[in-house]
Amino acid sequence: MSKPDYGIGGQGDEEKPGACGKDQVLPEAPGSQGQVASRQLADERTPASGWDLHCHTAFSDGTRSPSDLVEEAKALGLHGVAITDHDTNSGWDLATVRARELGLPLLRGTEITADDQGVSVHLLAYQYDPRNSAINELFFRTRRWRLDRAKAMVGRLAEDFPIDWQAVLDQVREGERTTIGRPHMADALVAAGAYPNRSAAFSGAISSRSKYYVPTKSPSASQAIRAVKEAGGVAVIAHPGDRSRNRRLLSDQRIMALAGEDGLDGLEVWHRGNLPDQRRRLLVLADSLGLLVTGGSDWHGAGKPNRIGEHLTDDGTVTEMVGRGTIPLA
Ligand SMILES: [Zn+2]
Repeated sequence: MSKPDYGIGGQGDEEKPGACGKDQVLPEAPGSQGQVASRQLADERTPASGWDLHCHTAFSDGTRSPSDLVEEAKALGLHGVAITDHDTNSGWDLATVRARELGLPLLRGTEITADDQGVSVHLLAYQYDPRNSAINELFFRTRRWRLDRAKAMVGRLAEDFPIDWQAVLDQVREGERTTIGRPHMADALVAAGAYPNRSAAFSGAISSRSKYYVPTKSPSASQAIRAVKEAGGVAVIAHPGDRSRNRRLLSDQRIMALAGEDGLDGLEVWHRGNLPDQRRRLLVLADSLGLLVTGGSDWHGAGKPNRIGEHLTDDGTVTEMVGRGTIPLA
């Protein structure tokens, strides 16, 4: 298969965040008619209503409960919401109970940490069978790796900061069922007075460039997608164009391979980390590969500035996802 000519989204195509507002007429960039058409396409297709398909709770590194998530989404008038904690589905039951009480449709998901040839990949897995052994083994291994790495990193931090493993556990809200990660270490440093907030800790001792950093192992993106498909789920790559997370992004060729060989279902295009140039690139790529296009806020409660509902997925796409998944809407 030869590489299609996507024609847009070159790495030098720099723009400021938010420059692609809905009511704004974008300036005509030098280039072909195709480039201009793609810019308009990206603007016109941003969903104005629908579902927030990317939200974290206290079962990973969010600060709020699954019930709070559902209540917030209901109060905002969203059509529905998804719970997508990191490497776990432990929050599904609580979210389901509250969603049924409030009559708000709930998509059940998990954000899986993976790696593709040195590029960190977050894979959103929706509507899979939570009893499937392949996916449970994947979660079990990833969470154990994360726990080992967290303990090693806290050991290094404890040499220079007044924290220990118990101080990290004190920041964990849902006990052993929580996926413990760097945000909890950051919160422990904040509680110890070393940093004013989580973001400051992430810029300092918790940063991947700090001397305290210990890398963690992850499954490959291909393995993760295959596990999701085996469990009957829908696999979507989260924020594939977020340059703030990755110095190197997944290339068009790698996305094509993950779609063609492994069964990837979609790309999360509407996310604050994907700047306008990347949204356009991803939309054209999704269209040419027949991939679903989703959106979500990456809400973490007070853990991040992301506001619930700030990016959405349209109803038609959610209907298609429910159709592909193996469990019903909750
Ligand atoms: Zn996320």
